[in-house]
Amino acid sequence: MQKYDVIVVGGGHAGCEAAAAAANLGSSVLLISMDMTRFAQMSCNPSMGGVAKGQIVREIDAMGGYSGIVADHSTIQFRMLNLSKGPAMHSPRTQNDRMKFSQVWREMLEQTENIDFWTETVTEIIVDKGKAVGVKTQLGLEIFAEAVIITAGTFLNGKIHIGQKQLKGGRIGERSSVGLTANMEELGLDTERMKTGTPVRVDGRTIDYSKLIVQPGDDVPGKFSFKDTAPVKNQLSCYLAYTSEKVHDILRTGFEDSPLFVGRIKGIGPRYCPSIEDKIDRFSDKDQHQLFVEPEGRNTIEVYVNGFSSSLPLEIQLKALRNIEGFENAKIFQSGYAIEYDYFPPKQLDYSLETKKIPGLFLAGQIIGTTGYEEAAALGLMAGINAHHKIKGKQQVVLKRSQAYIGVLIDDLINKGTDEPYRMFTSRAEYRILLRQDNADLRLTELSHKLGLASQDRYDRVLEKKERIERALKYFKNKSIHPDQVNDYFKQVGESPIKQKVKMESLIKRPKVDIDSLREVVKSFNDYWSLEEDNDNDALHEAVIISKYYDYIEKERDLAQKMQNMDSIPIPGSMDFMSINALSYEAREKLKNIKPKTVGQASRISGVSPADISVLLIHLGRKK
Ligand SMILES: Cc1cc2nc3c(=O)[nH]c(=O)nc-3n(C[C@H](O)[C@H](O)[C@H](O)COP(=O)(O)OP(=O)(O)OC[C@H]3O[C@@H](n4cnc5c(N)ncnc54)[C@H](O)[C@@H]3O)c2cc1C
Repeated sequence: MQKYDVIVVGGGHAGCEAAAAAANLGSSVLLISMDMTRFAQMSCNPSMGGVAKGQIVREIDAMGGYSGIVADHSTIQFRMLNLSKGPAMHSPRTQNDRMKFSQVWREMLEQTENIDFWTETVTEIIVDKGKAVGVKTQLGLEIFAEAVIITAGTFLNGKIHIGQKQLKGGRIGERSSVGLTANMEELGLDTERMKTGTPVRVDGRTIDYSKLIVQPGDDVPGKFSFKDTAPVKNQLSCYLAYTSEKVHDILRTGFEDSPLFVGRIKGIGPRYCPSIEDKIDRFSDKDQHQLFVEPEGRNTIEVYVNGFSSSLPLEIQLKALRNIEGFENAKIFQSGYAIEYDYFPPKQLDYSLETKKIPGLFLAGQIIGTTGYEEAAALGLMAGINAHHKIKGKQQVVLKRSQAYIGVLIDDLINKGTDEPYRMFTSRAEYRILLRQDNADLRLTELSHKLGLASQDRYDRVLEKKERIERALKYFKNKSIHPDQVNDYFKQVGESPIKQKVKMESLIKRPKVDIDSLREVVKSFNDYWSLEEDNDNDALHEAVIISKYYDYIEKERDLAQKMQNMDSIPIPGSMDFMSINALSYEAREKLKNIKPKTVGQASRISGVSPADISVLLIHLGRKK
C-alpha cells in the first residue's frame, strides 16, 4: 500500500471528522475501520445536540466539519431547548434518522477528495525512533504514514454486560478490538476502564401512543449548519412516558444479578446518563422517572426509550418495560446493555491531541475519556487539523476557552483529566455568554477560512452578517422612539410606559421586549431593514442579543482578556518544577507531569492553586 500523510483508525464520529478535516486540508488520508457500513454510528440515542452539545455541533460546522450538515440532512425533529432562558443557554437539538445519518456521512466522506478506505482491525502502531510511522492490521498488513490518529471509541477490549451474561463486543452485534491497547501500553501509554450503557429498542407497532404525552418539534424548526442546508419538513413527534413504583419494584428484583451492583463492572460510567437501576438506587424517594420515546428514523418502526438504559437481566428489563403505561404489549428489537472499554487518560495528550510520549500519534473521541457524539466529533476534527499541521510543519491549532466550547473541552481534558466519561455542560464554560450557538460562525469562520477549511463563499457570508449586525446596532443606538409608538405595545406585554423619547437601544434591553413585535410598532425600522434573506434575520437577532446583554458580554470579554494575558506568559520547557520548593508538593507533581506551556495553562490544572501561580510568576520574574 502507498504511504499516507495521515492514517485514521476508526470510522466513528471522531474518526469521520478527523479524516474529513485532514483530507480537506490537503493530506492524503487512509481511513481504516472495522465496519464501513456503520460510519458515525449513533450507538446510543438517535439525536444530535442538546444543552452545550448543540453549541459544539454549530462550532464544528463553523470550523468546516461535517457533523452539522449530516445532522441537518437526517433530521426528523428539531427543538431549540431552553428558550425560556437567556441566549447562552439556547441549545439546538435534533432527533435523527439513525440509518440515514450514517449513510449521509458515508456519502460525504466518499465525495471528499484525498480519502482512501480500508476495512480491517488495526492491532499495532508502528513506531520508529520513538515516532509513530504507521499501523499493523490483523491481516498482517503494514501501512505507513506521517501521523496516526486513533479513534477506537468503545471498542478496545469492549465487554458487554446483560445481567450475568458477558459478551465480548464493541457494541452489540459488533466485535471488540483486541490487541491495540496492549500494544499502546507497551509503547508507554497509560490505560484505564470506563463504562456506558444503552436501553432497549422497541417495536413501535406495539406501543399504545394514546397513553403517552406527545412532544412535537418546534413550529419553526431551525438547523445546525450555517451552510444552506434546509430545515426539516414533516417533523415526527417524540413522546413522554413515565416509570412507576411497580416498574421500580420489578427492576429491583434484578439487582442481585446486576453487573453494576455486584461489582462485575469495574469501569466508571457517565454520572449524568445513569442507568434506570442506578436512578432508582440513587433517588429512592422518587416514585417515577421520565422517559423520552424517540423514533429511530422516518422509515422504521424501531423506537428508542431514552432514560431506560439498563444492564439488568433481559427478562427483568422486558417485564419492567411492559409495566409502563403504553408499553403493555411491547415487543423489543434489542436488549439494553452496559459496555466496558479501555480509554487513555487524556492528561497524556498535548493541546493538539498528540500523545506526549509518541510524536505523530494522536488520540481522539471516546478513547480519551469523553462520552457523546458531539464531543467525539469535535475532538476528531481538531486531531485531524493538528495531524495535518504537524506533518506540514505548521503551528498547532488551539482554540481558547473564550473562543469555543471545543477549547473548553480540550483544555479541561488535558489539564484536569477525567476519571468518569466527560460530557460537556454549559456550566463547564466560564465564558458561556460569549460561546453562544447563534454566534459560532462569527467566532470561528475566520479561523477556519484561514486554515483552509471554510470556503470563500462561507467567509463572505459571515463578513456580510457582521456588517448587517453593525448596521442594526447603529440604528438601535441612533433611533429615538416616541412614547406614542410603543406605549400600547408595552402595556400589552406588561412593560412600564415611557414618558419621553427613548433610544431604541435601551428599549431593546427590556426583558419583555422582543424585536419581532417591536418592529411591528416601529414601522420606520422596516424601511431601513429588509428581511428578504434568512441571513438578515440571523443578523438582526444577533444584534438584539448584543444590545440586550452588552454589559455581560463586555464583562466576560474583560475576563477572557485577563486570562489571555496569563496564557501569553510562557513557561520554558526546561523548567524543573520539583526544585521550586515554594510550590505545594501536589502542584510540583502535577506541573511535572503535565508540563504546561504557559502560566494560564498551569492555572487551569486541578491541584495548582492561585498561591502556586504566584510562586510561578515570581520564579519567572513576572511579579515583584
Ligand atoms: C452502548 C453504548 C451506550 C452509549 N451511551 C451513550 C450515552 O448515553 N450518551 C452519550 O452521549 N454517549 C453514549 N455512547 C457513546 C457514543 O456512542 C460515543 O460517545 C461516540 O460514538 C464516540 O465516538 P467515537 O468516534 O469516539 O467512537 P465510536 O463511535 O465508538 O466509533 C469507533 C470506531 O472505531 C472502529 N474501531 C475500533 N477499534 C478499531 C480498530 N482497532 N481498527 C479499526 N477500527 C476500529 C469501530 O469500528 C468504530 O467505527 C454510548 C455508546 C455505546 C456503545
